[in-house]
Amino acid sequence: MKKFSLQTSSRTDFIKMDRQIAEAIAEMGLTEGVATIFIPHTTAGITINENADPDVTADMELVLDRVVPWSGGYRHFEGNTAAHVKASMMGSSAQVIVSGGRPQLGTWQSIYFCEFDGPRTRQVWVKGLSEQ
Ligand code: ZN
Repeated sequence: MKKFSLQTSSRTDFIKMDRQIAEAIAEMGLTEGVATIFIPHTTAGITINENADPDVTADMELVLDRVVPWSGGYRHFEGNTAAHVKASMMGSSAQVIVSGGRPQLGTWQSIYFCEFDGPRTRQVWVKGLSEQ
């Protein structure tokens, strides 16, 4: 398993991880198989979506804020219930097919770390499973 960290810069922040994930897969020597990318946090998630127009992730942040406002009469003492809910909406892991030693993504796809209670230093774990 490979791990890397990243620094988020605001409360909500979508960060492309394509380069770090490709490096992790190359370092583990996985050529054909599947890689799981796991986020070991309860107020951050992961998603695969459009990489060309940054307004797409900006709009996703807008929609998530509308659906799950930061203040809502929640009970959780820590005051970050919205971040917990959004983390579960995005999920804690994603899988990508690996072929030729590279993660296989669609032309318009990138893998995003989704921060919902930043800024913080966060961890990402990558585990490969070989086809052979
Ligand atoms: Zn909390």
